[in-house]
Amino acid sequence: MKPRFQRPRPAAPVAPVSRVVTSLTNPLIKDIRALDMRKVRQEAGLFIAEGLKLVADAIEAGWPIRILVHRSGAEFDRSGSNSAQKSREADASFRSEGIGKRYAEDKPMLARAVRATRQAGGEVLEVTGEILEKLSRRDNPQTVIGVFEQRLEKIDSVKIARDQIWIGLDRVRDPGNLGTIIRTADAVGAEGIVLIGDTTDPFGIEAVRATMGSIFNVRLATATPQAFLAWRRSFDGLVVGTHLSGTHDYREVTYAGSPCLLLMGNEQQGLPDDLAAACSHLVKIPMRGQADSLNLAVATGVMLFEIARGQLKLG
Ligand code: SAM
Repeated sequence: MKPRFQRPRPAAPVAPVSRVVTSLTNPLIKDIRALDMRKVRQEAGLFIAEGLKLVADAIEAGWPIRILVHRSGAEFDRSGSNSAQKSREADASFRSEGIGKRYAEDKPMLARAVRATRQAGGEVLEVTGEILEKLSRRDNPQTVIGVFEQRLEKIDSVKIARDQIWIGLDRVRDPGNLGTIIRTADAVGAEGIVLIGDTTDPFGIEAVRATMGSIFNVRLATATPQAFLAWRRSFDGLVVGTHLSGTHDYREVTYAGSPCLLLMGNEQQGLPDDLAAACSHLVKIPMRGQADSLNLAVATGVMLFEIARGQLKLG
């Protein structure tokens, strides 16, 4: 069944009012749950982010939001019980009180997010804790979920300026690794990440969770290996590949003053020969214990902090 997500309608400024939903069989709730599947996310071009602050920040930063789901304010006030029975009782009484009004008024950040969502033509749903649990597949879900439009570029739009950092990830498989790398890229002020070949979905809930909100701050582009190699031929900055058989210490390269793309290999297989051959430098992070290699996200972090070293200052 095709999801029924609607395109946003332009809306006049509105009061922060929510539509109350108490049933798991509500069609919109079913559609949001279906975003669990990669195919559905891709077809709809949507993804889920959780947490009031990061959802509110994303809306303020101009990310297109389609649906804002938040927990019933009155239910929330009643000590956060999330049993189904209590949720139903709460819903019955709150409906007569005008669900969410007080909560929205009491919580300025939520009220702003609600208003901004409606102004952008998005839906606002006020739901029970039980529904939030199902949407997030967690026992202690966040009180707010946002359904946003995905932003994914093609590699042709990637232009790297002097001192800018991009990361190329070859067939990254693990959503936790990808999310952690997006978060670390954000932390060092890297511009974006090119996902090369067949990778895990950056908009899957596990990857998005691991970004801790950084999914909204780092550009994402995709490329087939062939498209990446074609792009590389017209890029005259540094392409620094990391390889366990690299013979150069990663600290020997002068990164400052150049556009830089850091290229990281697949978790199991490392960089294939054609991508390794496309690098201007092939480096290794020295190790002295028994471990064969570093975890991909850890190795990326070590590299990023070295590349950005001159640009990172406390305070
Ligand atoms: N068995 C794989 C191999 O032979 O390359 C191990 C891959 S490692 C888990 C994943 C990626 O992290 C590597 O492809 C490389 O990009 C990076 N990496 C991990 N440890 C590294 C090290 N000590 N020096 C340079 N890169 C490293």
